[in-house]
Amino acid sequence: MSAQRVVITGGASGIGLTLARRFAARGDRVALCDADAAAVAAAQEALPDTIARHVDVTDAAGMEAFLSEVETSWGGVDVVCANAGTGGPAGRIEDLDYDAWRACLDVNLNGAFLTCRWAARVMRAQGAGLILITSSTSGLHGVPYRSPYVAAKWGLIGLTKTLAMELGPAGVRVNAIAPGAVTGDRMDRVVAMEAAASGLTEDAVRQIYVKGTSLRTWVTADDIADMALFLASPAAARISGQVLAVDGHTESMVP
Ligand code: NAD
Repeated sequence: MSAQRVVITGGASGIGLTLARRFAARGDRVALCDADAAAVAAAQEALPDTIARHVDVTDAAGMEAFLSEVETSWGGVDVVCANAGTGGPAGRIEDLDYDAWRACLDVNLNGAFLTCRWAARVMRAQGAGLILITSSTSGLHGVPYRSPYVAAKWGLIGLTKTLAMELGPAGVRVNAIAPGAVTGDRMDRVVAMEAAASGLTEDAVRQIYVKGTSLRTWVTADDIADMALFLASPAAARISGQVLAVDGHTESMVP
């Protein structure tokens, strides 16, 4: 398989950085953007051949500049990972702040719109390409007290299904990956927040996540990258419009 040209949003840490590392390790060209300037600088140092830019996915002009730079440099793109996301506020819906709700949807959903719109324009013209959207098992099951995040991740599944229909005839595939609870900084923060809110120990909260899966497991960022690399391979040439859960089979999302 020849080297691919891969764009990753939210690519400077966590799952996005692992995607960047894994695509780069197999010889692909990678461009990433992220809203965390320090993380972008570190990613650039770790992956010197990568185009790494400090851009917020909700900044339409910034995204346009970043993606135009990529298109000019590469002359096209093969894989676009709309991965940037944020957890948003937790709480009962009657207590949620409207601005916090909107900010969560803005990053998770509107940022993906800007990313996918550019990808669709380039890929339709090419007659080929793959869009990979990072949803979540939350978007498949729902999670109490996480309504903005769930609504956004559920919305991304609708976006995946619809774009697969719109772009399939042009030779473009669109799939979503739904990670379960992935080990790393983000889940450490979530576990600490949930432990503080519930009065449980962090270990007890972690056990709830493990016991909520059939395989009694957490997931790693490399598990997500394995799925992304498979979807970007010829073996997945007939897979589109799907939501691939990499989660140890979630049975319960109720904490
Ligand atoms: P993370 O916090 O480690 O990484 C997310 C990255 O996105 C960070 O580098 C952050 O700076 C960046 N980002 C946030 N807002 C941004 C914005 N407005 N513009 C550009 N970049 C922005 O988290 P992660 O676990 O790697 O999450 C990656 C994706 O996976 C997210 O969409 C998340 O919702 C999804 N996900 C994560 C888990 C999990 O357990 N970690 C589970 C399901 C889904």
